[in-house]
Amino acid sequence: MHELRKDPLLSRWAAILENSLKPEEYGTFPAPREGLGLPAAGAQGHITVERGTDGIRVVKGLRLLDEKGELGRKGEGIYDKMNPIGVHEVVMEEQAGRSDSGGGQPEAGNFRAVLDIYLRRITALVKDARLRYVFIFRNMEGCAGGRPAPHGPQGSTERLHSEILATPVIPDFIKRELDGAKQYYQYKERCIFCDIMNEESRVESRVIARTEHFIAFCPYAPRLSFEFWIVPRRHSCAFEETSGPELDDLARLLPELLGRMGRALNHPPCYYIHTAPNRIPRKNLWHTLGDDYHWHIEVLPAGGLIGGGSAVDLGSGFALLATSPEDAARYIREA
Ligand SMILES: [Zn+2]
Ligand SMILES: [Zn+2]
Repeated sequence: MHELRKDPLLSRWAAILENSLKPEEYGTFPAPREGLGLPAAGAQGHITVERGTDGIRVVKGLRLLDEKGELGRKGEGIYDKMNPIGVHEVVMEEQAGRSDSGGGQPEAGNFRAVLDIYLRRITALVKDARLRYVFIFRNMEGCAGGRPAPHGPQGSTERLHSEILATPVIPDFIKRELDGAKQYYQYKERCIFCDIMNEESRVESRVIARTEHFIAFCPYAPRLSFEFWIVPRRHSCAFEETSGPELDDLARLLPELLGRMGRALNHPPCYYIHTAPNRIPRKNLWHTLGDDYHWHIEVLPAGGLIGGGSAVDLGSGFALLATSPEDAARYIREA
């Protein structure tokens, strides 16, 4: 049986695979993904959850997580663990256009369909009271292993896909953001993200783009060189509350910026949607969540190892940066 285990020091949860991969299985791409039960090229034989427009479809992913059953929280010595309840789905973008940018990003029309799928899946998954968080991210195959897949020519076997991971625990980085935002709100009675947006607009040097509904900038103290955030200008804690016009705007902005970053670094980046946890009434409910948290997208270089990032910062959170965010913003702007 797979399980979720809690690090007692950092209160971070880890999913532990029952049948561990052998070291040699990490050496061949894409063996690790298939070992975890992720769809192989073409996703033949995988169960379709939902179909979108433009040939986009959502298929079931990881066997590591179990959609049925109870959480079964229990102790093991001094440790805590629970059953690996959760949902993992992969959004396959079969028709992903790769005509315009060196970064291999699909066109804007296609992106609106992808965003619609995110919205529909989050709306469906937040109804499950066992699940605390729906995490959506998008990368190129091979990116998650920290070793970017070779940047192939147009029409190569590199495929774009997003992953949707719904878990009974809140991921560590999100938990830290929620805690920080809550503390800031208690102190200032203002949303920290709204304050950051105003400050970045005032300073201007880290801003990459500004549209009617969004602002994109490299954060003041990033974890990785070239990291940038896309933040909605209207305060909202949850991605699923995004309006139609905002989605249209994001569907134009996101592929444009991914393309720029892809050209700047010669490899398409990954992105992560940071949104509020499921707000199902329970004890210890986050009463101010709607006021203090603000959803956003974080775009990171593929594999997290480009631009001076290293195992040190990925392992400890202490960043060693080779490129300032001001310069990174300029490189991406000018690419
Ligand atoms: Zn805000
Ligand atoms: Zn974030």
